[in-house]
Amino acid sequence: MVKRMGEMMREIPILYLVVPCYNEEEVVEKTASVMKEKLERLEREHKIKKGSRIMFVNDGSKDDTLRLLHEIAAKDNIFSVVSLAGNYGHQSAILAGMMTAKEHADVVVTIDADLQQDIEALDAFLEKYMAGCEVVYGVRNDRHSDGIFKKATATAYYNLMHLLGSRVITNHADYRLLSKKALDALAEYQETNLFLRGLIPTMGFASDVVYFDVKAREAGHSKYTLSKMLTLAMDGITSMSVRPLRMIGGLGFLVFLFSMVMCVISLVDWAMGNNVPGYTTTLIVSLLIGGITLLSLGIIGEYIGKIYMETKHRPRYIIDTVVWHGSEEKE
Ligand code: UDP
Ligand code: MG
Repeated sequence: MVKRMGEMMREIPILYLVVPCYNEEEVVEKTASVMKEKLERLEREHKIKKGSRIMFVNDGSKDDTLRLLHEIAAKDNIFSVVSLAGNYGHQSAILAGMMTAKEHADVVVTIDADLQQDIEALDAFLEKYMAGCEVVYGVRNDRHSDGIFKKATATAYYNLMHLLGSRVITNHADYRLLSKKALDALAEYQETNLFLRGLIPTMGFASDVVYFDVKAREAGHSKYTLSKMLTLAMDGITSMSVRPLRMIGGLGFLVFLFSMVMCVISLVDWAMGNNVPGYTTTLIVSLLIGGITLLSLGIIGEYIGKIYMETKHRPRYIIDTVVWHGSEEKE
């Protein structure tokens, strides 16, 4: 999975944990103390530098979360709080946190507020970074903590995404490490329809995966309602792929071919005299209209797909490193 291991020895990084919180009053205090303890341990073991922090992003919580976060941050400057003006959703909350953190950090790890994702995996994330990775994906070991419904829908969804040509990593949620370099590259993507799991693999960069166990939620209940999950799933497909549009084009072409064949058959039938009066004309007219309409839709879809991708203003390339006469300059 590792594309390119860095040749350079890296410095121990300043790590920022970015933690999105939406109505997490039951769990934030516990989360804060577990994360602080972990960060202090990592610092003692010389795996991260002093100045590493935990950055909570309040995603427009309607409960007591924000007040609790301010209380936590006031007591200890290892914590900071970014508070969004409203509920923008998980993906946007993570992005807001990462973009704020990247000005101060060498690496950022995004992790949920509910302690479901094993925080002990941070050591492995940092090892991969030290080995030269710019992106490290957390991948859950298994789905035994999920119900049958969630397990089945998740598997079907990943299969569908792969079929549509998206490069999502199976069973990778948003527990991931990005280096400052990868974050600067991510900042170049201006799209509002955000699906980080699909977007980040398309950037490139040396990357690897770390496996971790998923636990039950520490407290509270899932903030991902069915409608939020469906929106995310649809965003994942429509923001990364114009293949559904192309499928209409393919279908249109097939129907058009079929209608042509049917026209010829019914004309031959008519010429041989075995037909009901008016039948051939009606059939040919409806076949042609149907076939041509679908084919035209396909052609229009092809242009709309192009326009859609253009409007995203995605960077056309991202430079990893530039070498001048043997000396390497980092981008
Ligand atoms: N979250 C958020 N905004 C939302 C929904 C969720 O910031 O609109 C956060 C939530 O507080 C948590 C993370 O996203 O830290 C994952 O949500 P949750 O644990 O509820 O999802 P699940 O693990 O059930 O998929
Ligand atoms: Mg959760």
